[in-house]
Amino acid sequence: MSFDYDLFVIGGGSGGVRAARIAAGTHGAKVALAEEFRMGGTCVIRGCVPKKLMVFASEYPGMVEDARSYGWDAQIGGFDWSVFRAKLDAELTRLEKAYRGGLSGAGVTVFDSRAVLVDAHTVQLADGKTVSAKHILVATGGAPFVPEIEGRALAITSNEIFQMDALPARVLVVGGGYIASEFACILNGLGCKVSQYYRGAQILRGFDDEARGHVADAMRENGVDIHCGTDVMRLEQVDGGIKAVATNGSETVFDAVLYATGRKPNSGGLGLEALGVELGRAGQIVVDDYSQTAVPSIFAVGDVTDRINLTPVAIREGHAFADTIFGGQRRRVDHSLFASAVFTQPEMGTIGLSEEAAREREPIEVYATAFRPMQTAFAGRPDRVMMKLIVSQASRKILGCHIVAPGAGEMIQLVGIAVTMGATKEQFDATIAVHPTMAEELVTMRSPVRTG
Ligand code: NDP
Repeated sequence: MSFDYDLFVIGGGSGGVRAARIAAGTHGAKVALAEEFRMGGTCVIRGCVPKKLMVFASEYPGMVEDARSYGWDAQIGGFDWSVFRAKLDAELTRLEKAYRGGLSGAGVTVFDSRAVLVDAHTVQLADGKTVSAKHILVATGGAPFVPEIEGRALAITSNEIFQMDALPARVLVVGGGYIASEFACILNGLGCKVSQYYRGAQILRGFDDEARGHVADAMRENGVDIHCGTDVMRLEQVDGGIKAVATNGSETVFDAVLYATGRKPNSGGLGLEALGVELGRAGQIVVDDYSQTAVPSIFAVGDVTDRINLTPVAIREGHAFADTIFGGQRRRVDHSLFASAVFTQPEMGTIGLSEEAAREREPIEVYATAFRPMQTAFAGRPDRVMMKLIVSQASRKILGCHIVAPGAGEMIQLVGIAVTMGATKEQFDATIAVHPTMAEELVTMRSPVRTG
């Protein structure tokens, strides 16, 4: 049977684009890709990239304040959101072009259209045209989820935040995960008055407890008004803003309410279930270790599979899929160990098990330190950083590393190499420190603070 293409990819985000480029450019497959919105997906268009640029923007007031403590006659004026937004839009357009260029350079045919599945080898584009392919890869990502509360239409999500006309003076951020905590810090740094409502006992559930506590304390010190054990019951449009009626009995008016209460896989309306592709309870496409669905010609990678919802993981999954199907090398992605960072202020970098999760598994030693780093201590700031290693008593391997510090994302990337290689505490100790740095503490912690 002959097909129009060897591979048809639905979705031009991190996972889909990598799979298409490797399949076509490296392995010589005939590939097409359909994207209904802007090329680059969540990460490039309304996620990691614009978020990180906003993090940078939000850090300048603190830097200028510190500069004064170092003797500079420095002052910062107001922040002009319209100037930043115009530059941000231009940067995203540049990146989108680069993504398109990468695809066309690899020989991939791009359809600027939604595509849905018709059968196990056929997709239909928005104009009704059908295209056949030997393999179909679904890489449609995820979308923000807002719970069914009264007045939910008044809320914005991370999709809209980069498109705001003006910065709101008073913002409520709902949720306690990555996105909520990052935006609470960003908006606070940009000069908004930020409240964060989180339904649980402590933000950043799932991360190391000590590290979460450290981040939350620092966020509060920096001015974010965090209310744990608090959720919104309803939102109402009132004169002068949006009133949030909360479970703690408060009724407060804000200029904007940002919901960051998780994301759901974009698997609806694609025709998947009718073809026999299994979907999980959250709507995620169920795949095996090789990203293959229950229908042998249909594969899925990235957030739509709800495994580890991070860009570098989606890229790995897309690459491994292309190598497996078109490169003759059966490759799978190990999801058990990955480094990641939460770009709160201060940042948190983490790899491996939290102290709590490690203790459930085996006897451990915990090495931890918290101190005022040189740069900000000199400026008179109270900021403290935290470094923590979780060590297996039996194998001596580092089971987890948690860093809360400026630049923690950069640090954990490098620690990640050692931990992924299976480094032991003694190998960390044998590493000569780089002085004076914050990260030298990672190789100079002599005695455990806790064992057991
Ligand atoms: P998360 O799953 O991290 O957090 C969702 C938050 O919303 C949790 O605090 C959760 O509470 C809360 N929540 C969920 N449902 C409700 C509800 N019905 N009512 C009130 N609160 C609710 O999702 P995010 O949207 O923050 O991020 C999505 C994913 O994107 C992350 O998991 C991550 O993989 C990725 N991401 C990664 C980043 C990075 O690497 N730096 C940055 C941003 C996103 P509870 O804890 O009680 O369940």
